[in-house]
Amino acid sequence: MRAIAVMPSSKQVSLIDHPEPALTRPTDVKLRMIEAGVCGTDREICAFEYGTPPAGSEHLVIGHESLGEVIAVGAAVTRVMIGDLVVPMVRRPCPHSYCMACVNGRQDFCFTGDFTERGIKQRHGFMAQYVVDDEIYMNPVPEELRGVAVLVEPLTIAEKALIQVWDVQQRLPWSCAKEPGKAQAHCRRAVVLGAGPVGLLGAMALVNSGFETYVYAREPVPNPKADVLQMIGAKYLSAQTHSLEALAWQVGNVDLVYEATAASRLAFDMIQHLGTNGIFVFTGVPGRKAPVEIDTDLMMRNLVLKNQVVFGTVNAGRGAFEGSIRDLGVFAKRWPDAVKSLITGRYGMENYCELLTGPARGIKNVIQLN
Ligand SMILES: [Zn+2]
Ligand SMILES: [Zn+2]
Repeated sequence: MRAIAVMPSSKQVSLIDHPEPALTRPTDVKLRMIEAGVCGTDREICAFEYGTPPAGSEHLVIGHESLGEVIAVGAAVTRVMIGDLVVPMVRRPCPHSYCMACVNGRQDFCFTGDFTERGIKQRHGFMAQYVVDDEIYMNPVPEELRGVAVLVEPLTIAEKALIQVWDVQQRLPWSCAKEPGKAQAHCRRAVVLGAGPVGLLGAMALVNSGFETYVYAREPVPNPKADVLQMIGAKYLSAQTHSLEALAWQVGNVDLVYEATAASRLAFDMIQHLGTNGIFVFTGVPGRKAPVEIDTDLMMRNLVLKNQVVFGTVNAGRGAFEGSIRDLGVFAKRWPDAVKSLITGRYGMENYCELLTGPARGIKNVIQLN
């Protein structure tokens, strides 16, 4: 079968002929892959910043944002049936019996760091024509989401973040008075840093939860990302016309910041504008650059005197995948054009080179695999 792979030892990205996987255990499921999304992680792997092939392999098949269709199931499979659409999870548990996270199926919180990830770390990924994996990693998707389900995996970042936001904020009287027809955070204001796919999907999740949502990003208006945000009722502010002070002034009390840029300087400047009882969520992984100065006294004073919480979040558990599938269905009904316009192009596998190593363009580009 055809697959897109990196060879870190020779720094090559290629379309390769790869053995088609077969069912080996009674709980295995075989997928015919429909499509895979291209994201910053794939592009960084293709720039050889990280990405580790499985033991004994020279190459790593990449791809972790995907949609497949079940074409064969082992004798003991109960979660899915032939013909189901599924989005597989990415991370697999570490082998250690003392890792309470992995033992409990929460490898997204693995303690040891010895987890593996399909398409990223020591396991082949999903930019291939066929995939086999255990049914416990499969998340069934309704047929009506076929055209947008490749967005399920990137949306899990916001879903996992929001699950934790509600958990953490339960410690204080943060919830809004119940109002008919309004979602739970209707009295709260959120700022999203960055308007890439993670930021835009995060903004949709925040608006859908009731937050008055502002997105702060580099590009001047008008631009396609600001158009998407307008369709969902979020406000786009460009860094070219608004300082962070102007942003904070316009928002008022910043109850939540959802960071989706991996620009650490911007993020730490923004922490200084986090409001009383506010919560700041980091999702980006910056490369290492020269250190920058921050006002630690101001930050520490605010954290203490304003009861603030700052946390980071990576990967996603089953609850986040299920929340993502549910919410993508809601988004697709509420804002059909906005959701569709997140996918800016669909390309055949032969276009891998331009998509993975050429200049970044569009919002979410997708590679069709069959
Ligand atoms: Zn991704
Ligand atoms: Zn673990």
